[in-house]
Amino acid sequence: MDCIFCKIIAGEIPSKKVYEDEDCLAFYDVAPQAPVHVLVVPKEHIENMNGVNADNFRVFAKMPLILRAVAYELGIAEKGYRIINNCGADGGQTVNHLHFHLLGGTALPPGLV
Ligand code: AMP
Repeated sequence: MDCIFCKIIAGEIPSKKVYEDEDCLAFYDVAPQAPVHVLVVPKEHIENMNGVNADNFRVFAKMPLILRAVAYELGIAEKGYRIINNCGADGGQTVNHLHFHLLGGTALPPGLV
């Protein structure tokens, strides 16, 4: 499958990992939008939020716990952070493998867009 994140998960494309378990991987975004910008992805290829279902929900449900753990690990939890998911073309999704952005390390502007 021609998926950048599947290639990162397979080790075919390098990444700077911050967390890994049997189901999920977290790594630094290559084009950071904040001092801390990490992506959390399931190892299973799920296209986006529309692909979440009863079969993969166990893995999906781990993702907020991992986002929180990474926020603590990287020292941004107490001051705060933002979690973003872009879904589909109108949502601005550019990599079609489910991922959550974890952004922090600075005071982000208020608002949703
Ligand atoms: P989205 O626009 O929500 O689909 O986000 C995709 C994110 O993946 C962007 O923030 C990109 O900078 C990031 N990205 C693309 N290729 C890589 C890569 N090889 N390593 C790390 N992050 C990447």
